[in-house]
Amino acid sequence: MNSQARLVIPGAVLQQAIRALERSHADWLACTVERASRQSGEDWLTRGLARGRQLPDPALVVARTPVLPVAFASPTAVLYLRQGEPPRAYLLDSRGQRRPMGLLILAPGLPEVGATVAPAPDAERWSRVAGALGDYAWRRLCRLHYLIVGCGRNGSLIAHALARIGAHRMTLVDPDTTELCNLDGDGFLPDHITRPKADALAESLRAVNPTLEVQALPHSASDYRILPAAREADVLITAVDDDGARWTVAHLSVLYLKPMLDVGTGVLHTESGEPLIGADIRWLVPGECCLLCTGGVANPQQVEVVRQGLYAEQQHRAQRHWQRERLGSLRSLNMMATGLALRTLEDYLAMRLHTSRWLRLVYQDATPQLHELGHGAPNRNCLCAHTGGGDKLLTQPLDSIRQISHSEPWVPNPVVR
Ligand SMILES: [Zn+2]
Repeated sequence: MNSQARLVIPGAVLQQAIRALERSHADWLACTVERASRQSGEDWLTRGLARGRQLPDPALVVARTPVLPVAFASPTAVLYLRQGEPPRAYLLDSRGQRRPMGLLILAPGLPEVGATVAPAPDAERWSRVAGALGDYAWRRLCRLHYLIVGCGRNGSLIAHALARIGAHRMTLVDPDTTELCNLDGDGFLPDHITRPKADALAESLRAVNPTLEVQALPHSASDYRILPAAREADVLITAVDDDGARWTVAHLSVLYLKPMLDVGTGVLHTESGEPLIGADIRWLVPGECCLLCTGGVANPQQVEVVRQGLYAEQQHRAQRHWQRERLGSLRSLNMMATGLALRTLEDYLAMRLHTSRWLRLVYQDATPQLHELGHGAPNRNCLCAHTGGGDKLLTQPLDSIRQISHSEPWVPNPVVR
């Protein structure tokens, strides 16, 4: 199969299209799409059902008939749905010629039609995890390309866990260098001190899994140099202590249709001086919700700093002092939070979890309590407005975000740090 072009469609949009076709009894309907280049080809990102009578350009046509009664002036993606068969995508040019397209559906299991699945080279090494997850979920987990933003305690624990259960491809993003206090992260050694965290973590991951393709990017999440990797990745993971970075990645997640796994842990104190220990784990599938409609960010002023540019961000980073923000960090808490995050990803790939999810772990009186807060729904003030917007909307100002970072309603999210 020619995998140069790939159609990416949120499961939520596909469901809307199917319902609209059933209601109208039409043979086809149109969706708006944007195109985004990747090293391995081009993604056609589905934004949503087209409004109005005019066919958008470029367009995706969702059809339940094999022969379309219209001709298209420019290349058009077609998603053919036939009852009882897996959906198929192809590109139709103006002469009516068809070319097969890959197809990625943002739905449980993250099914990708046309993707090649390499056989596991060493079955015994992976037998336990493959047995527990099921062959499909494990192979899917191995094949996905993870972009991990933040290589501290949470990020290093997730990266090492993924490398040890068979992940093939990872990109690590962190602008900081390794310090003495980072040695409680996974894989960091005294020799790594003063080296970029992303480089040090990549080195330790290669030692664990020599077949892992790992790229280290010692840059900020808002640096344009991470963009090609973000477009290439399948899942974006944030393990950061800065809401500017968290927001930046959340924007890339909706723009390029990449599910996002966000982990935030906090050892804070209440006004009475009691420790407040907790974590937020958010699995956010574009088309369903985004970071802002699922809890938002605790520090919108950090988002403002990122919006002012890299120089302001560097100044802000240099002036931060962790003791003004938190009591400290607990590896035990990091392990619980990253364990819950990874379990969430595993359940989604195994099709046991069917939607986005927001979990909050809180320690009260030495007792852990796990709350399912449910995911949000797109609203006019969130990032969902840019879903599937790709490069076209990358630099477009988000006026709604300016409002949300300064005004009510704002969902307080005290734990995430
Ligand atoms: Zn949203």
